[in-house]
Amino acid sequence: MKSKNTDPMKRFLKKHPFLAETERVHRLVDAAVGTPEPIQLPARAVTKTIAEKLPILQQETYRRRMVRAVYMMQEEVFARIAEADVPPLMQESARGYLAVLKPLRKAAKEEFIIAVLTQDKEAFAALCQRYDLNEGFIRSTIWRIIAALVPAEMKDPDMWNPDRDRPRFSENYCPVCGRQPVIADLRKYRQGRARDLVCGGCGTRWHYTRVGCVYCGNTDLQKMHTLEPEGSDIMRLDVCDACHHYIKTYRGPVDDDTSDFIYRQDWATVHLDLLAEEQGLQKKGNPILE
Ligand SMILES: [Zn+2]
Ligand SMILES: [Zn+2]
Repeated sequence: MKSKNTDPMKRFLKKHPFLAETERVHRLVDAAVGTPEPIQLPARAVTKTIAEKLPILQQETYRRRMVRAVYMMQEEVFARIAEADVPPLMQESARGYLAVLKPLRKAAKEEFIIAVLTQDKEAFAALCQRYDLNEGFIRSTIWRIIAALVPAEMKDPDMWNPDRDRPRFSENYCPVCGRQPVIADLRKYRQGRARDLVCGGCGTRWHYTRVGCVYCGNTDLQKMHTLEPEGSDIMRLDVCDACHHYIKTYRGPVDDDTSDFIYRQDWATVHLDLLAEEQGLQKKGNPILE
């Protein structure tokens, strides 16, 4: 019999013991980031995003607001990671970044954050190379800080599209930060299911059309196929033969199921990415990689 009292994460890890260490490290970084006061994003910013398809954090005013907020906390967060019980490489990478930041002026410290937030891959790679820093770790950690600073209501798909039959925003990039999605979530809607996309950077979810590749826009179903991993009935890979990218798609028991939040996190199905890699497929939307 299923006990309702068990922690859904405990149940999940019992089924996937090989993910225990990943979950532990993820949790320690969460603790290092903490729960800061989210930045303020007014209704008119949302209106502008819907009208101009310009993500909120790419609007000058709010981008600056976010950069300032990350700037205020980044050194504390990395200092906490350096002290946490995380793998030595992460501790070292955090210490390395702190040492680089220390003598820099405010504008130079913000340069890292701006390059991450604007997704200027070349600029961020060049910065990390110049200072010999662990690019993937720093970028993904800055995204974790950004995610913590985005107000919870902005991450709710119903906020972006209160009426799914008449969506106001259904682009293939995040309405809050502009990143491409990392996971798709087929959730029950009326008689069927609707597709939400999940941002691997800021954690926002938003509505997207049910059919086609979320990355290149290919809607030719002859050029799409799915991979259904053995032993996983609630996750599948939607593969595009036009651009050779795939997206992990969650189609679990939705609504009030308390384990939904786990499956919407990229790390929780990292074993499926290995499967995809074996097939020569390319992943998108993960902040460690891009
Ligand atoms: Zn986002
Ligand atoms: Zn595609």
